[in-house]
Amino acid sequence: MSAQVLDGKACGAEVEAEVKAKVSVLNERGITPHLAVVIVGDDPASHVYVGAKERACERVGVKSTRIDLPADSDFSKVVDVVEKLNSDPSVHGILVQSPLPKGMDELAITDMIDPAKDVDGFHPVNLGRLVQGRADGLVPCTPAGVIRLLEWGGVDISGKNAVVIGRSRIVGAPVSLLLGRKGVDATVTISHSRTSDIADVCRAADIVIAAVGRAEMVQADWVKQGAAVVDVGVNRVDDESRERGYRLAGDVHPDVADVAGHLSPVPGGVGPMTIAMLMLNTVTAAESNS
Ligand code: NAP
Repeated sequence: MSAQVLDGKACGAEVEAEVKAKVSVLNERGITPHLAVVIVGDDPASHVYVGAKERACERVGVKSTRIDLPADSDFSKVVDVVEKLNSDPSVHGILVQSPLPKGMDELAITDMIDPAKDVDGFHPVNLGRLVQGRADGLVPCTPAGVIRLLEWGGVDISGKNAVVIGRSRIVGAPVSLLLGRKGVDATVTISHSRTSDIADVCRAADIVIAAVGRAEMVQADWVKQGAAVVDVGVNRVDDESRERGYRLAGDVHPDVADVAGHLSPVPGGVGPMTIAMLMLNTVTAAESNS
């Protein structure tokens, strides 16, 4: 492997150290940042993610409250919980863990969260501020973590060609906006399932962000020598040799490490960054609203 590792654990630890220092300042003012996480149903992956978020809160000194609702909860029950958290002045951040049970309108719930407490950064007010290029919104955690990881790795972004594979509301669209922001200054191409000859589009990129959800789709011959590649994907691949029956794979084939200049691993790349940026958003929300 020749690529420099974009180590999300190391970079995330630096972000968490910054968060801890901010928490100390808030504590001196008698404020403890407080994140409330709502989880509906028993999706095993969601429980793993929420557990990791709770452990991060403990590490940095953020209070966490977890509200578990059964999978058959009415939409109105979730609304009721969100409204209570919105009006609770001791709560600075609210996160409703995705996915919600089938049929429950996730966007409608997102719209209900107080934008000042929307630490996921998915409320239209926060996404709108991102589009406006403003610095006063809460920025989605995974996209913010991708930029931070590139900067941490010393990747030159300004004036470079960046290709984002995927255009989701959660990752692809906001990371494209962040890359193209004034001050970050990449020239951004957004590709998706309708893009013709995606391999060719990638070959022109100095920076590739893969946020597709297809195991090891990005091949070594799609990547320009020395390009920086950030692998956002988390995919389960059947593997009977493992006790749990599967392994985790990114959207990028491991052979890309022989061609890329920088590459983020899966696991240990974007995952820890997402959690660290969530801690940062929670503290930012506490600073702004107390
Ligand atoms: P998503 O909502 O399913 O979006 C996937 C995107 O990929 C869509 O824009 C889709 O295009 C595009 N796509 C699908 N197949 C394609 C193909 N063959 N060629 C080109 N583009 C294709 O997924 P997401 O929420 O953005 O998540 C993407 C991946 O990131 C998943 O593996 C997810 O688990 C992972 N993830 C990781 C973290 C983390 O913290 N590490 C956080 C969030 C997500 P269309 O728009 O045309 O359908």
